[in-house]
Amino acid sequence: MQVPAHVDYERPPTLAAALELLAGYGEQARALAGGHSLIPMMKLRLAQPELLVDIGRLTELRYIRTERDELAIGALATHAELLAAPGVPAIFRDAERVIADPVVRSWGTIGGSLCQADPSEDLSAAFAAARASAVIRGRDHARVVPVREFCTGPYQTVLEPGELLTELRVPLRGVTGSGYEKVARRVGDWSLAAVGVVAGLADGVIGHVGIGVTAVGARQFCVPEAETFLAGRPATIENFAAAGRIAADHCDPAPDQRGPADYKRHLVAELTVRALTRACA
Ligand code: FAD
Repeated sequence: MQVPAHVDYERPPTLAAALELLAGYGEQARALAGGHSLIPMMKLRLAQPELLVDIGRLTELRYIRTERDELAIGALATHAELLAAPGVPAIFRDAERVIADPVVRSWGTIGGSLCQADPSEDLSAAFAAARASAVIRGRDHARVVPVREFCTGPYQTVLEPGELLTELRVPLRGVTGSGYEKVARRVGDWSLAAVGVVAGLADGVIGHVGIGVTAVGARQFCVPEAETFLAGRPATIENFAAAGRIAADHCDPAPDQRGPADYKRHLVAELTVRALTRACA
């Protein structure tokens, strides 16, 4: 039987109270949102916080709404809510459909997913493709960082002790297309590789394009080299294939039980072509 070590538990009634608690305990405290990643890690003793600050019922962080030209997603919105909400860019619906199963999607939160910073996490790639920003709050401060700078490595983020991710902000551009292509061993499983694309065209020429990649060791879940190649070029299958090769070259997949590195690199090239084709169509 796997059981977590002893841990104190608090369920503050407000965000301000949660930030106060977290500031007081520093590195010894962890936020608990849906618990789908943190509780298993505590059972395996990979995480041993002294205090769990349960933010899971803070309704002030549970919303999805349009604010001027941005979509604002509270950190405690769940996967299921993002999947169902009206007005959400299609890349998120497409990514959410292939994340885990209905139980995980009902409990797991958007903030928890990004803060877990699992190197195979799907939403990190989708938010990177959409060039979203992360709003971070501490007891006495707030700051905004591009999602592309949020993860600093596997299971590591820019969050300092005492800080919470409170919101994701997604720019809503004019007419864009998107695609999210994932290969997994079975339905609801983690990716072998996945690629998300958000693109805008003018007269068949690619204007802005974001390419997010997960599970294959891409720095910050994106491949700016392929984006730079595509910007200003015609949306042709030849250019998509070249971008796919560039994306594959700029990943660093690890061989594991899901497959060898060269297969994963092949997937990046192919999925980039498919996601670009879908987005530009
Ligand atoms: P928690 O477990 O509560 O927290 C995770 C981490 O984030 C903890 O360190 C916690 O302290 C921290 N944290 C949480 N919220 C905040 C916040 N607002 N500010 C600061 N720190 C915070 N993911 C995929 O991308 N693709 C998949 O296919 C997939 N399949 C899954 C299958 C299963 C069976 C399971 C259990 C999980 C799967 N996941 C998958 C991961 C799942 O999406 C995450 O476990 C879940 O969404 C994490 O959210 P949570 O609210 O449960 O986070």
